[in-house]
Amino acid sequence: LSLSILALPDGLAKDPFAVKRAKMIETIEAEIKTGYGNLANKKLDDNVISALNSVPRHEFVPKKLQHSAYDNRPLPIGHGQTISQPYIVAIMTNLLHVGKNDSILEIGTGSGYQIAVLAELVSKAYSIEIIEPLGKEAQARLQRLGYDNITLKIGDGYYGWEEHAPFDAIIVTAAASHIPPPLIKQLKPGGRMLIPVGSRFMVQELLLVEKSEEGKVRTQQLLPVAFVPLTGKH
Ligand code: SAM
Repeated sequence: LSLSILALPDGLAKDPFAVKRAKMIETIEAEIKTGYGNLANKKLDDNVISALNSVPRHEFVPKKLQHSAYDNRPLPIGHGQTISQPYIVAIMTNLLHVGKNDSILEIGTGSGYQIAVLAELVSKAYSIEIIEPLGKEAQARLQRLGYDNITLKIGDGYYGWEEHAPFDAIIVTAAASHIPPPLIKQLKPGGRMLIPVGSRFMVQELLLVEKSEEGKVRTQQLLPVAFVPLTGKH
């Protein structure tokens, strides 16, 4: 028996989840090809694929669920919250069309997975989480994984993050009843925002909000989604 048969490819030896992660991406790509909704581009950009490939999703779920980390479904992360379905993370990342010099904002850090995927593609990433223990866990996790271009805070994301505004892109990963005006204000001219809007406990519409260079705001309905509600006092 030749020894080379026993040798594992480099990536696999270092990361036992590499095969599962590659399969997850294949599943997402197949689903997007046949996908639903008002999506002009039924293909993931190469940089989005490599971002999905770079983030160890199993590090963002509770230990006992690690075996399911690469299934194409949301998973519970405690405090009644979820890490979103990988398919949705992929679509939303693709639709934001971020560039490598961009500064972006996420509302709803949760596990930190979505902001980690985006942080692979931009220079500065900010995220706000309203549930303190979740925000703290995400902070520790992202630090441990070496993400030094992500800044988190605990607070109500409805009001955005004035101090770091304006943003090239904003992504809201909880369901809102309407588009928060502070977020529209904090979007750069030429910027894009994705936000699920609709009833709290049923299906919402994922909206793409675009601000033109002249500051005109245009909204488009893209596809039905199901997110946990955006909470807070507003
Ligand atoms: N992006 C997350 C991830 O990658 O794991 C998943 C987001 S989870 C579906 C929605 C998150 O939004 C929850 O963690 C919830 O606590 C948070 N959230 C709800 N309302 C919020 C608000 N007003 N401001 C900030 N975060 C909020």
